[in-house]
Amino acid sequence: AFWLKSDKHFEQQSFLMGTVISEKVYGYNARKASAEAMARIGEIENTMTVNAQGSQAEALNEASGKKSIRLDGDIIEVLETAKKYSSISGGAFDVTVGPLVKAWGISTEHFKIPEKEEIDELLSLVNYNDIYIDSNNGTVRLAREGQAVDLGAIAKGYAADQTIEIYKRWGIKSAYINLGGNVSVLGKKPDGTLWRIGIQNPRAANGKIVGVINIQDKSVVTSGDYERFSEKDNVRYHHILDPHTGYPSGSGLMGATILADSSVAADALSTAVFVLGLEKGIELVESLEGVEAVFITEDKRIYTTSGLKDEFIFDDESKEFQY
Ligand code: ADP
Ligand code: MG
Ligand code: MG
Repeated sequence: AFWLKSDKHFEQQSFLMGTVISEKVYGYNARKASAEAMARIGEIENTMTVNAQGSQAEALNEASGKKSIRLDGDIIEVLETAKKYSSISGGAFDVTVGPLVKAWGISTEHFKIPEKEEIDELLSLVNYNDIYIDSNNGTVRLAREGQAVDLGAIAKGYAADQTIEIYKRWGIKSAYINLGGNVSVLGKKPDGTLWRIGIQNPRAANGKIVGVINIQDKSVVTSGDYERFSEKDNVRYHHILDPHTGYPSGSGLMGATILADSSVAADALSTAVFVLGLEKGIELVESLEGVEAVFITEDKRIYTTSGLKDEFIFDDESKEFQY
């Protein structure tokens, strides 16, 4: 569904990349910029979705252990970025979790708990160092048969960055794009104030927040155990796996939010720190220039990195959380 308000203010929502996408674009050419952005997101979805027949990600997975294949610049850039964040997170973020994502039925929405033996076997296939990228020739190879990438933890961030670039090319000065919780903003709001981004309460209805961050020209991305999960025998099985154990990560966090200039960085890092947990997560984020984070622990405490002490406005209607 989409609706047009005027040439200078355009909002639309659609369902792409497995999630709801909303856009608000202001200024002359808002409608054209918005349409181009949505088309571009569709293109990125077709390239990066692993379950989609004919996608480049699927082709890469099918060729694993057999041959290197030629891929588009988009996916090569995403794979290069993915390897970088795998490396700095010590493998907490690793797009070669594909075989495990399949075994758990995460991307298919048919959740199942794999046998321990199966998990151990598939774990041996997880290793980002097995992605060989030849950027000069535009080819990529997965070293071993059975290996598979899953770009679910990084592709939306890439799409958000591409969207902001498109807005800029159209001369847009003020815009907001949200890909299912992966938010990027361009400039300030049209009234000159900052964009107000709520941090979701991980245990309450969608839209109930625990705090707010006011931003301009930034991306804010959250990974949480509440976005996609199933419960069995009172255990919550969520969609973010620890690549070292093969099980949904149990690092003691319910949510991790990253603020950064680049959304692809924020997306990769939110997944990474969610797996790393509070202490290692803070350590990683503090080591990175221009990156900040909000952590929500299972014992309902909220922590922020040093650069957010004055920026994060604690606002917990539920009165359950402590900051
Ligand atoms: P969201 O799906 O809400 O954007 P993330 O960005 O954290 O959340 O991405 C989670 C998705 O990434 C999972 O659905 C799965 O496809 C994949 N994934 C799960 N665990 C990892 C991991 N440790 N590293 C990289 N990708 C992962
Ligand atoms: Mg992510
Ligand atoms: Mg994400």
